[in-house]
Amino acid sequence: MLDQKIQEELKKKLLEEKKRLEENMAGIESSPKKPDREYQAAFSEIERDEEANADEMEMYESNVATDETLKSELKKVEDALSAMEKGSYGLCLNCGKEIPLERLRAYPQADTCLDC
Ligand SMILES: [Zn+2]
Repeated sequence: MLDQKIQEELKKKLLEEKKRLEENMAGIESSPKKPDREYQAAFSEIERDEEANADEMEMYESNVATDETLKSELKKVEDALSAMEKGSYGLCLNCGKEIPLERLRAYPQADTCLDC
């Protein structure tokens, strides 16, 4: 089992990640579902700053593309947090072995070991 201190450290990371994902998702949901004329009109208002406009357009497009990814990442983070509550955090869902600490540090919401 992971020691308390490491678990706390990873929990902090998970909570930060959760917050980040939720903020990203909130950003997506406040965007219009269809980038129609209304959206374009809103965009023309900031056309003065061409570069900012391009940046924002790029952000919008990548947000749409990652919507599903964000949802599944958020689920993993939530699963990891609830596994922590139950004391089963850090075990591979597939084979039940402990997931190496280096992997958890790099990716605290990991739910399988490297072999799986
Ligand atoms: Zn495994």
